[in-house]
Amino acid sequence: MSCLFCKIVGKEIPATVVAENDDAIAFRDIHPAAPTHVLVIPKTHIASVADMGADDAALLGRLVLFASEVAKTEGIGETGFRLVSNTGPNAGQSVFHLHWHVLGGRTMSWPPG
Ligand code: 5GP
Ligand code: ZN
Repeated sequence: MSCLFCKIVGKEIPATVVAENDDAIAFRDIHPAAPTHVLVIPKTHIASVADMGADDAALLGRLVLFASEVAKTEGIGETGFRLVSNTGPNAGQSVFHLHWHVLGGRTMSWPPG
């Protein structure tokens, strides 16, 4: 499997893992865009949220709950955080393995650039 994030799941590429469960792994982004910037990914390969189907609904829910738990553990549960899943070229997706960016630790503007 040539997918970068599958290699992180398989421990073929090192990452700073902050949390893990049966479905998912959370690790620090290599180029943080905020004081806290963690990526939450499923252990199975799914390219993006656009590639999820009805059968993935329960997994999708668990991933978002896991991302919320990670935010709380990282200390940004109260101050606030942003969950972002860039999907496709206009959104700037660069790694085609589903991931949520968990961003926090500073105020953020809206709309995004
Ligand atoms: P996207 O651009 O697809 O929304 O997000 C991909 C993210 O993966 C980027 O924020 C990028 O910094 C991060 N990233 C790319 N390669 C690596 C890597 O090898 N290790 C880690 N920890 N993050 C990576
Ligand atoms: Zn993958």
